[in-house]
Amino acid sequence: MTTLEPLETDLWRLGEAGRRRTLRPRRGHDLASNDYLGLAGSDRLRQAVSEALARGVPVGSGGSRLLRGNAEEHEQLEEQAARFFGAKSALFLGSGYAANVLILATLPQRGDLVIHDDLVHASVHEGMRLGRAERTAFAHNDVEAAADALASWRRSGGCGIPWIAVESLYSMDGDQAPLAELAALAEQEGAMLVIDEAHATGVFGPDGRGLAADLEGQDNVVTLRTCGKALGCEGAFILGPSTVRDFLINRGRGFIFSTAPSPLVAATVSEALCVLREEPERRERLHALLRHADRELTKLGLAATGSPIQPVIIGDDRRTMEVASELQELGFDVRGIRPPTVPAGASRLRLSITLNVDNAVITDVATVLGKLL
Ligand code: PMP
Repeated sequence: MTTLEPLETDLWRLGEAGRRRTLRPRRGHDLASNDYLGLAGSDRLRQAVSEALARGVPVGSGGSRLLRGNAEEHEQLEEQAARFFGAKSALFLGSGYAANVLILATLPQRGDLVIHDDLVHASVHEGMRLGRAERTAFAHNDVEAAADALASWRRSGGCGIPWIAVESLYSMDGDQAPLAELAALAEQEGAMLVIDEAHATGVFGPDGRGLAADLEGQDNVVTLRTCGKALGCEGAFILGPSTVRDFLINRGRGFIFSTAPSPLVAATVSEALCVLREEPERRERLHALLRHADRELTKLGLAATGSPIQPVIIGDDRRTMEVASELQELGFDVRGIRPPTVPAGASRLRLSITLNVDNAVITDVATVLGKLL
């Protein structure tokens, strides 16, 4: 056996199961990105980068935030984000994945319980795996099941702090969490509520402040807002009470031992936040597009999600990838999503609606989909 043989065998098995992944270049109409507001390639953000470079903002941070890496751009951005979203504090991280891992690995303590929606992102799972608290899943969007999980933990002697981890808009299904009921449950149970607003930030809520905009600022709420989706950049904010920020800075290994994000990116994200407030027409155009997509896709018997994420569940892994390839051949960049990203038997096309396409593209892709399915 060669040293790489176990890895090669695993890759071969993935191939046999129709689950082996490869990288593909971007080509065709964008029906796959999370660049919901079309900001990633926008003149406004390009201009912001040029201006930041011209005034001497460094490309690299040079170190961890706790050492030399803490730039003015990080601090200004965090103040701006806390103010914009209405939170007591903000911490800027290099990615949403890193931010979720940091939250779940650091904040829940030994003796606590994390209950999480069945469909939360892989990064939440990764964080919980590293953390010290017990964990248990509850059925997707089922608040009663969440309450039962907490009650049974209490009955069995659990006396720490419960943490409830959910997404506000689910990344692979495009449906929304019952946030008001979850917030009420958290309040009643003395729980902390962790809300991943990755896909809702910039798209929903006043000024694009997300679906959890009205919960922001509460002492038992922590939100995650990624900057690589509607904000068109990269990175993420963890928003919440100042104690949470302070604790992450003192105890969060992923924060302490990692080079700070690029100050240039921080300056660009700052401009993207200004866009959210100053260009509501982007959100209005997106929502008009979403209404059009819902109309076209419901004609095919698909459920309207009212969100930029439109799943087309096919089930079989191989068939999903075949349909995705056929769409790609015809110039539509639609990607197939297979397990483990989604549950077994639930492989799907994930159509993502952004301002990088128009009504005509959506009508065309729906027509082709109708024929292929
Ligand atoms: N949370 C959710 C719900 C996501 O969909 C993603 C991105 N796929 C992340 C977190 C991770 O964010 P990032 O891409 O910035 O690492």
